[in-house]
Amino acid sequence: MVAVETPQHSAVGGLLDYLAARRLAPGTLVRVPLGRRMVTGVVWDADGPGQAPAQALRPIAQVLDAVPALPPGWRELVGFAARYYQRGIGELALSVLPPELRRLDAAAITRRLARSVAPSTAAGPASGLPPLTGEQAAALAVLQGLPAGPVLLHGVTGSGKTEVYLRAAAEALDAGRQALMLVPEINLTPQLEARFAARFPGRVLVSLHSRLTPAQRLRHWLLALAGRADLVLGTRMAVFAPLPRTGLIVVDEEHDASYKQQEGARYSARDLAVYRGRLERVPVILGSATPSLETWQRAEEGRYTRLTLATRVGGGALPAVRVFDMNRLPRTRGAQAPVLAPPLQAAIEERIARGEQSLLLLNRRGYAPVLHCGACGWKSGCPHCSAWRVFHKADRTLRCHHCGFTERVPRACPDCGNPDIAPLGRGTEKLEEQIAALLPGARIGRIDADTTRVKGALQARLAAVHAGEVDVLVGTQMVAKGHDFRRMTLVAAVNPDGALFASDFRAPERLFALLMQAAGRAGRDAAQAASGEMWIQTWHPSHPLLAALVRHDFVAFATEQLAERRALGLPPFVHLALLRAEAKSAAIAKAFLDAAAALPAPPAITRYAPVPTSVARVAGVERMQLLVESASRAALQQWLAGWLPQLHALRAADKAAYKGLLRWAVDVDPLGF
Ligand code: ADP
Ligand code: ZN
Ligand code: ZN
Repeated sequence: MVAVETPQHSAVGGLLDYLAARRLAPGTLVRVPLGRRMVTGVVWDADGPGQAPAQALRPIAQVLDAVPALPPGWRELVGFAARYYQRGIGELALSVLPPELRRLDAAAITRRLARSVAPSTAAGPASGLPPLTGEQAAALAVLQGLPAGPVLLHGVTGSGKTEVYLRAAAEALDAGRQALMLVPEINLTPQLEARFAARFPGRVLVSLHSRLTPAQRLRHWLLALAGRADLVLGTRMAVFAPLPRTGLIVVDEEHDASYKQQEGARYSARDLAVYRGRLERVPVILGSATPSLETWQRAEEGRYTRLTLATRVGGGALPAVRVFDMNRLPRTRGAQAPVLAPPLQAAIEERIARGEQSLLLLNRRGYAPVLHCGACGWKSGCPHCSAWRVFHKADRTLRCHHCGFTERVPRACPDCGNPDIAPLGRGTEKLEEQIAALLPGARIGRIDADTTRVKGALQARLAAVHAGEVDVLVGTQMVAKGHDFRRMTLVAAVNPDGALFASDFRAPERLFALLMQAAGRAGRDAAQAASGEMWIQTWHPSHPLLAALVRHDFVAFATEQLAERRALGLPPFVHLALLRAEAKSAAIAKAFLDAAAALPAPPAITRYAPVPTSVARVAGVERMQLLVESASRAALQQWLAGWLPQLHALRAADKAAYKGLLRWAVDVDPLGF
């Protein structure tokens, strides 16, 4: 049997029989004919079912001998992921291989390998190790006593979690094993790579993420597979890195939503890392200052070992959190609330005078989220999506952040001709402009997706902040995570209220994590920690989330949230799957989901009525979803496995009825609603 990438939604799971001239080890890469094409496949198991008459089988065209066979653990992991996330084995297996392997034939791969230079292995002494803090030492002692299994490393920002990863990795390496480290953000890999490279001179460290060139990615992947790479550092895709001698898996910032793949096979790299650790009997460290509530609950139940780093390295205090009640501002009729409350502005001015930096966080890029005509009520909607187009002042465009549709800003209202169309609300571009006016002479910087589109722009902007060339940094969540800004002593969330009352039940969890992370950017240098402050401007100062934040009390927040989730029957106390459908019209998507919902299900399975997704129409495509729920993960899994073939059959049986149905897919353990 060979795993090949069969067309999406074909009922074939992607395992096909081929004739082999000789016995091939499972995990061997081959080129085989599929229809009229020649494709790469993975020998899955040597003993096919053998019912097919031999003459009907097509022979394997090439064996990619130059590539070592994928280890059994890799196939087990891929097999599990395919079953769990309801995808074809072939589809998943091929989607997690380096793209070059899907493209090149045996000769080309051999040429590539011959050309790729072996990494230098000039061994040298590691730079001086800092003595561990008491908490770090205690955490490592527990880790050393654990042969395998998941470990939650709950450490406040700046508590030295990375040092714990480094020491644990050193032990794995000393034992002749490989260490795998996952990070959520591609932007954080160079930083961490540098830290690991400095700690392990002479060791081979490779990265795996989507920004590598195809040739680099192939080379790094092969070094991992050949056992030559000692350390593999990467984003979620790296959870599938084939390693012949795994010794440790680390998932940094395990709560981060970017561990969930949001297209194709919608897997959670964090969850797969835990599964992989069990499979390969190695420890898995899940590190975070604000663990996901799923992980926290498992630690509470004793299924994960919990290690705590409660204090910052060097004894620095966590920043004081100041919640500013916007209702206290004097109201002038018709006037808009100021961007910055006067005491916050004063606090920023103090920082500037002392040569310290401030960060203003606003999770909305562009100048204003919508343009509006006061005369007739026109708003800058996107003609292709159920969303507003965002006003970008720098190039005077209206841009849809969902489909990308961009136009020049009209001179006058397209409906009534009123020349006085005005921006409503505020994005980072406007905030930057307003701050510049409020703080004349201050050096303002901005980091968001718009200012960092060009290659190297992000690095340049971050370098300017680190060099002290910026007094006030305006940014989206891009800058809230991970960065070690040594001169920053004030962080302010300018307007986080929207997320306090969002409809997604995970919104509070995400907001709390973001604000804790952002607070963690302030006062990281122990010498300045005393002046570290986090400001929150809000119209809802008594919200319990903010009360927990003021106390830096993740445990209280998690306990309250989990009690609420338990009472409401939400994850992690129930298990969810979404059936998503995209169609040319909402009626067709709904018809398909209605039919899917009408298929029989046991009482352990609850199905809800199909509803439009939060942005229902994107690029002219209508999107609806059907929520499926069960108290038992096993029951849900079993039922989904039977349901999917019926969905394929449903569509095949009435091609006419579902003519405008473009795509459908199941999302197991969905994150966004
Ligand atoms: P976290 O990942 O928990 O936010 P880091 O690992 O980045 O924290 O550590 C914060 C800072 O403290 C870093 O600059 C790191 O080099 C330093 N650090 C970590 N452990 C120690 C230690 N034992 N002694 C001195 N400095 C340390
Ligand atoms: Zn108008
Ligand atoms: Zn659009």
